[in-house]
Amino acid sequence: MAGQPQADCLFCKIAAGEVPADVVRETATTVAFRDINPQAPTHVLVIPRVHHPDAASLAAAEPQVLADLLTEAGNVAADEKVDRTGYRVIFNTGSGAGQTVFHAHAHVLGGRGLNWPPG
Ligand code: AMP
Ligand code: ZN
Repeated sequence: MAGQPQADCLFCKIAAGEVPADVVRETATTVAFRDINPQAPTHVLVIPRVHHPDAASLAAAEPQVLADLLTEAGNVAADEKVDRTGYRVIFNTGSGAGQTVFHAHAHVLGGRGLNWPPG
């Protein structure tokens, strides 16, 4: 079932243009914007326009939109010229893993060495 906008959700407001963001790409189903607290030279968030609390919930409800999100993560990496050097796509899921905004989002990180495993 399609996720409905949540009145108290920051990323729903960014998707609707009600809160400003440094938007780098948009599609019919996704918005990509720079993280306000970047952890790497490239740190872009890719969100679905629809509200789901995390990536797995989005995948279960609207798998094509999750596919769109990952396609856009790749497009962001190409735009930022980190596709050849390598980049990381992260879905923090749950507060114990550092999720602070409960609207599904992919972090696209690149432009520096990325240790494995991540902390
Ligand atoms: P997470 O901790 O995985 O839920 O990721 C949420 C991310 O959103 C964090 O990296 C924040 O720095 C970022 N963030 C919070 N508010 C904003 C905002 N207004 N514009 C851009 N990024 C934001
Ligand atoms: Zn939302």
